[in-house]
Amino acid sequence: MLIIKNLYVKIKNNLIIKKLNLKINKGEIHILMGPNGSGKSSLSYTITRKVNYNIYKGKIKFNNKLINKLNTYEVSKLGIFLSFQYPIEIYGITMFNFLKNLFKKNKNKYIKYIFKLCNKLDINKKYLNRYFNYGFSGGEKKKNEILQMLILKPKFSILDEIDSGLDIDSLKIIFNNIKYYIKKKKDSSFLIITHNTNIINYIKPNFIHILYNGKIIKTGNLHLLNKINKYGYKNIINF
Ligand code: ADP
Ligand code: MG
Repeated sequence: MLIIKNLYVKIKNNLIIKKLNLKINKGEIHILMGPNGSGKSSLSYTITRKVNYNIYKGKIKFNNKLINKLNTYEVSKLGIFLSFQYPIEIYGITMFNFLKNLFKKNKNKYIKYIFKLCNKLDINKKYLNRYFNYGFSGGEKKKNEILQMLILKPKFSILDEIDSGLDIDSLKIIFNNIKYYIKKKKDSSFLIITHNTNIINYIKPNFIHILYNGKIIKTGNLHLLNKINKYGYKNIINF
């Protein structure tokens, strides 16, 4: 589904991603971990073709289509979704109007559907009349990201620290909703960026990668996660 080959990314002339290779097949769940500043968010911005994240060398292919030269809108049309580490606030556009526009068809059914999802995510329906993310708490913004994912039903989702800053109840709700989505849409793939190893109690990943200094320096399975927990990144990086 997603193939990244020999990727180098420059932001304002700084090389942020170096020689990165990654292959994510249909239905696979990959976890990406790594110390702060290693380039995890930059990788997600590069895949979703954010401006200024310039591909200097290498290829990104999604379902056999080269996406290097596409813009963000075109990438999202292919079925790629990014849940932001820091979701933005949009003053002047209500949640309801924003979410309504995510529906491609069945526009007449959207109200009932949005309400149903709000219930699942424990989002107060009053929030639908508020401006998009405006003044929302960190956890509320993250729930809003998952709400959009459940509406859009992407083929490939990148979740950038969806679990950071959440209280225990919200964490459970978010993980359970991701789990529910994976169960319902078995051919969808995920790149989950996280520092929270509790995620494996809900979601079983196929691979775990460690990104360090713009490079994937280690790929493994749950054993690698245990090692990270036990020894920290530093020792693994120095191996
Ligand atoms: P992570 O998500 O792994 O914590 P980031 O991808 O956010 O790391 O950042 C990787 C490196 O790239 C950092 O050193 C950061 O300062 C730098 N970087 C990211 N975006 C920009 C930008 N727009 N301009 C300049 N430097 C950036
Ligand atoms: Mg980040």
